[in-house]
Amino acid sequence: MLKCKQITELASKQLDKKLPWYQNLEINLHLKLCKTCNLYVKQIANIQKLATTMNKKCNHIILSSNAKTRILNKLNEHQKSGKQRTNK
Ligand SMILES: [Zn+2]
Repeated sequence: MLKCKQITELASKQLDKKLPWYQNLEINLHLKLCKTCNLYVKQIANIQKLATTMNKKCNHIILSSNAKTRILNKLNEHQKSGKQRTNK
């Protein structure tokens, strides 16, 4: 059985692309047994839905290149800090 950390990583991937059936099965089995991961997966799915909705509703908003760079830098910082935590 996969650990919670593996499930959160797989569940994030699951939102972006189709996973093999056995990984979906492992995720679903784990989610039946683990309330924490279940809640986490629901939250990231809601965040993705919200982001998609915001993207559709706000596509008329044009960001300056400066703002885009700031957002990109923050996302990169966040991603790097996540990878550092993963490596510990
Ligand atoms: Zn779990």
